[in-house]
Amino acid sequence: MTVPAFVAEANPSYWLQGARLPLACLDSAVELGRASLATAEPWVQAHLQIGDGMIRAILPASQSIADDQLVWDLRQGMVWPAFVDLHTHLDKAHLWPRCPSPDGTFAAAIRLTRADRRHWRAEDLYPRMDFALRCSYAHGTQALRTHLDCEEGQALISFGVLQRLQQEWAGRLTLQGVSLMPIETFHQPQAIAIADTVADYGGILGAVVYPHPELEEQVERAFYLAQERGLDLDFHCDETLDPQAEGLRLVAATKLRLDFTGQVTCGHCCSLALQEPDRVTGTLDLVRRAQVAVVSLPSCNLYLQDRRAGATPRYRGITLLRELQQAGVAVVVGSDNTRDPFFAYGDHDMLEVFTQAVRIGHLDHPLGDWPRAVGQTPATVMGLGRIAQLGPGSPANLVVFKARSFNELLSRPQGDRTLLRQGQAIYPTLPDYAELDGLLCGN
Ligand SMILES: [Zn+2]
Repeated sequence: MTVPAFVAEANPSYWLQGARLPLACLDSAVELGRASLATAEPWVQAHLQIGDGMIRAILPASQSIADDQLVWDLRQGMVWPAFVDLHTHLDKAHLWPRCPSPDGTFAAAIRLTRADRRHWRAEDLYPRMDFALRCSYAHGTQALRTHLDCEEGQALISFGVLQRLQQEWAGRLTLQGVSLMPIETFHQPQAIAIADTVADYGGILGAVVYPHPELEEQVERAFYLAQERGLDLDFHCDETLDPQAEGLRLVAATKLRLDFTGQVTCGHCCSLALQEPDRVTGTLDLVRRAQVAVVSLPSCNLYLQDRRAGATPRYRGITLLRELQQAGVAVVVGSDNTRDPFFAYGDHDMLEVFTQAVRIGHLDHPLGDWPRAVGQTPATVMGLGRIAQLGPGSPANLVVFKARSFNELLSRPQGDRTLLRQGQAIYPTLPDYAELDGLLCGN
């Protein structure tokens, strides 16, 4: 795509002419009139005025731009807000060359990463996490949350590295960290030290929720520790096809019962898709009333769930994305693991994640509000304001595509997308895998 020279200047002021904007990403206050609406897909065509690093105005495409203005004619290319990735695991990112999984199973992934954790000093974590962030940034992400393994003294090391990265990436990527550990940890003395570390580093308290005889008390303890420290919560829940796993239901019920005022997110929630319809209806109602957000990780679920040696998977592994959304629950899709034993592939490309989610979850025809699931919905969960909404006053952190429709967008990888930050074109490159050779080969 030919980008006019003035777009690459510092603090540029210009118009994006004839941009196609996902309707779901448009600020509700923007009135464009029916003429701007597409007939077959949920986008609108408009001109965006960029200045002072922000979107200053959005006009219907039927209006003309004054002759004395600088104009970038997008030839009907789509413009999206820069992405927000709510669920990643930077501490495990790109481990694959050092611990490739022999069978791709969940059990092997847990065993391998637990054994590899002996390497997870700052010298090992920092280059892998930074590599992953450079991928995210180069694909057009502006904010990202990562879970960090916190058992056996790891919390201080990993949150320390994240803090360094938060400082180095400030102004380019907003980063948040969540503790990750088995939910049983909340009944061990180390839980208090971990919760204190999370609070010290401004993080979010989290754990993995799975069936356990004392699960109710453990989840309640997590809420109490979060409440005492004013922390939000983010759980891995029910990452299994066992319908008996009802962590999501328990978390929602606990939030309501304790009148917890922080933000609560549950990731995965795969088992919901295998439960009886009446039970599902009850859980959806609880989750909606509790205002618990659900983040789905379709690529990782497709990879891990229903994996059996020598057999073809029957189930897709994803949660009830459409039903959750219809029930009024905030639904997000995220990356999850990248090139590690939990998911051998991936590059923190939120367009790829969105495309996969649409294809795996049948989120299309109509596509509806789903573009928000990689933008403003996770931005709201992260407490970041209107950073991923297209409207006057929002930051001009945008991704410009040659694709003129959702159909064109979701058919190709869009490797030639152009990134705008504060309205200025930037050209970050993807890091070379060879950078990690010394770290991951021969250790
Ligand atoms: Zn995860």
